[in-house]
Amino acid sequence: MGKGKDKFKPRSSLATRAVHAGEYPKRYADSLTTPIFQTSTYTFRDSKEIEEYTKNNKERYEYGRYGNPTEKIAERRLADLEGAEECVLFSSGMNAITTTILALVHSGDHMVITDDSYKKTLEFCKLYLKRFGVECSIVPFGDYDALEGAIKENTRFIFSESPTNPYLNVFDLVKIKEIATKYNLLTLIDSTFATPLNQRPLEFGMDLVIHSATKYLAGHNDILAGVVLGRSELIEEIKDLHRSLGGVIDPHCCYLLLRGLKTFPLRVARQNESALKVARFLEKHPDIDRVYYPLLESHRHYTIAKEQMKGGGGVVTFDIRGDLQRARRFLDSLELCYIAPSFGGVETLINHPATVSYYNYTREQRYELGITDTLFRLAVGIEDVDDIIEDVDSALRKSRL
Ligand SMILES: *Cc1c(COP(=O)(O)O)cnc(C)c1O
Repeated sequence: MGKGKDKFKPRSSLATRAVHAGEYPKRYADSLTTPIFQTSTYTFRDSKEIEEYTKNNKERYEYGRYGNPTEKIAERRLADLEGAEECVLFSSGMNAITTTILALVHSGDHMVITDDSYKKTLEFCKLYLKRFGVECSIVPFGDYDALEGAIKENTRFIFSESPTNPYLNVFDLVKIKEIATKYNLLTLIDSTFATPLNQRPLEFGMDLVIHSATKYLAGHNDILAGVVLGRSELIEEIKDLHRSLGGVIDPHCCYLLLRGLKTFPLRVARQNESALKVARFLEKHPDIDRVYYPLLESHRHYTIAKEQMKGGGGVVTFDIRGDLQRARRFLDSLELCYIAPSFGGVETLINHPATVSYYNYTREQRYELGITDTLFRLAVGIEDVDDIIEDVDSALRKSRL
């Protein structure tokens, strides 16, 4: 694997960089594609090589948990796309989130998180951090006074997400930065729903950006991966703990991620366009009660979304008229849209939070969280948008009594 200047780096277009960034110009065995270095360890030719590595800090690979060339190239590409100094990959989005939080806190510390965050992230902060003496305040999303009021002397960072699941609420990154600066806190943002094409948190001064690369970045519903991006000094701290916790991504996954990244700007641009079209269609549909999409004028955070985001992403959330029985009939009438959790891939998926993610909640608990019986989250894929609309429309009609 040759070293040298990344000849594609100065090109400003995300589309070009998505295809090429991070690769080394000198290709291994002249292969156009990045090889999968399917190895768990790396050999030293002789004692001199060991010495060069241990004593003279020669850059090379030692053992799989500490790094892999396919992984390195994927990290370089992701850092380039997000405009970050450094990047670290993980075996899943949750692994990225938990390792990052654990790397930043000590017993006796406090953190603030917004209540609209990913369910498992909240669960980790609420249930597990307590065991290690780390306190966590959960504040209502969008209430910036409550957020500021929750800050204590031992607060280390603010963790938020934008847009959020399933209502696609958008967090004001300018406001959060102001508050964080005032109290000298780090800011972490889970930007999974936006991707580097639609939202650039580092340009708003966020310290760390996290993605579940399982979603748009890999984009084909075939791998799990997570990524954290930011300044070198912070990423190095996270990497140290990552090496101990060991939730590393495997080389084959890195290859699939690199392959997915090549088309990521194309796919997400298409998903932005199709999702907006679907959202506008649903907004006028007589069987729909409400539609939630950041770039619909009716969305509560439309103004911030418009300023902060280039596109609204591929997820459209909506409430249909009727009851749980009707919701079931609607699901069962869909033909093109697969019933599945997740989003960001090429296939259009539909999720019914009431019976999937919140199946073990009582109806009252669900309604308190806004998860109604008739709420759906449509993850628009890259199929022809008219086919997607036709499928949803036809299922809505078939589900009428
Ligand atoms: C999916 C998701 C995660 C978790 O990522 P995994 O790759 O499934 O572990 C975290 N945050 C958000 C916003 C997500 O959508």
